[in-house]
Amino acid sequence: MPLSAIREQQQTAFREFAREEVEPHAEAWDRDETIPLRSIDAFAGKGWFGTLIPAEHGGLGQDAVAFGLLNEEIGGACSSLRSVLTVHSMVSYAVCRWGSDTLRRQWLPRLATGEVIGAFCLSEETSGNDAGALATTAVHDGETFRLTGTKKWITYGQRSDVYLVFAACDGKPAAFLVERNLPGVEVVPVRGMSGTRASMVAELHLHDVAVPASSLVGRVGFGIAAVATSALDIGRYSVAWGCVGILAAALRTSLQHAHDRTSFGVRIGEHQLVQRMVADMATAHSAARLLCVEAGELKDAGDPRTVHATWTAKYFASCQAFRAAADAVQILGARGCLEGHTANRLLRDSKVMEIIEGSTQLQQIYLAQAASTS
Ligand SMILES: Cc1cc2nc3c(=O)[nH]c(=O)nc-3n(C[C@H](O)[C@H](O)[C@H](O)COP(=O)(O)OP(=O)(O)OC[C@H]3O[C@@H](n4cnc5c(N)ncnc54)[C@H](O)[C@@H]3O)c2cc1C
Repeated sequence: MPLSAIREQQQTAFREFAREEVEPHAEAWDRDETIPLRSIDAFAGKGWFGTLIPAEHGGLGQDAVAFGLLNEEIGGACSSLRSVLTVHSMVSYAVCRWGSDTLRRQWLPRLATGEVIGAFCLSEETSGNDAGALATTAVHDGETFRLTGTKKWITYGQRSDVYLVFAACDGKPAAFLVERNLPGVEVVPVRGMSGTRASMVAELHLHDVAVPASSLVGRVGFGIAAVATSALDIGRYSVAWGCVGILAAALRTSLQHAHDRTSFGVRIGEHQLVQRMVADMATAHSAARLLCVEAGELKDAGDPRTVHATWTAKYFASCQAFRAAADAVQILGARGCLEGHTANRLLRDSKVMEIIEGSTQLQQIYLAQAASTS
């Protein structure tokens, strides 16, 4: 799809950073289950943690399509770094849209520069796709809320400075910004994730943590329906574009090997059954990208149909990314089975994309219902 001159400029800047500063390190980060702080700082130095934050709050104030192009390039280089960008952007978006003026002034300028990184804390032992089944509680106690519970699978939780925590307050869902250094906050690293392994997942234990009442984001009762739902739309959009990046990376690594490797006297790329896999990857990449652009343009136009377009884009892009990554491993043969090879990492990372921000099955249910009522 041809890009306008301004879009091309944006894409070039994102791509250069991704290819020079991220991709060469992605296997090492994956192996070490960490992204070095200097690399987070280099990313922050570009201002890209504040891509969606309005300029009046210190961000770049860029539009959704620009944010998509960023996620595409970073996601093609390293899904773990893209995941950090995803959750940070979800938190920033929630504060911007639902936070009080005080919260916006307090947090957005620092979220924009990456001086503080945000983590999104919804999942629990008993609540995954069924996000409303919150066991974490918030008890209103004068000028504070007291939070108790455990949040699971928190991307970048090991390092984040502030957590957007969802908890039930008198049975009603609510969202709070919780500073990492508050008494009673305990961070437990989770190691051994198969995909997005460098995204520094943690469990967040809240032991009767007193947060100021001013930390409430939105109103009590609107934590899931408003705050989480709208932030998850941003997360889903970010992941969908990240999957377009995975598709491009799977195609690149497959084409390289199909060119370099010979079998039965010819390059393996000349075998028609290998060509079929390459053709499917290339087609899926183009189609997923178009769906993402559509979702982004609807967002930029303030059109509510973006929510459905984003579900569609994420569903298609994540399923196709997993299929393409599996085919890339197939084309690589034994080499693709080796941890440390790009195709192997793409396969592990792409499976995560089918689980987070609404699993494939939840999306199928939603999309089937939408189709039958439209
Ligand atoms: C790498 C990684 C990072 C993550 N980061 C975060 C984070 O930063 N913050 C956060 O809050 N969470 C995070 N999560 C958690 C993630 O959001 C959940 O894993 C996701 O919501 C799914 O929940 P679950 O794993 O409990 O699966 P479940 O909800 O238990 O689902 C298990 C399976 O059952 C299927 N299923 C469930 N309900 C239905 C249904 N009604 N119909 C059909 N099938 C169904 C699902 O599709 C899935 O296949 C992360 C997870 C991973 C793997």
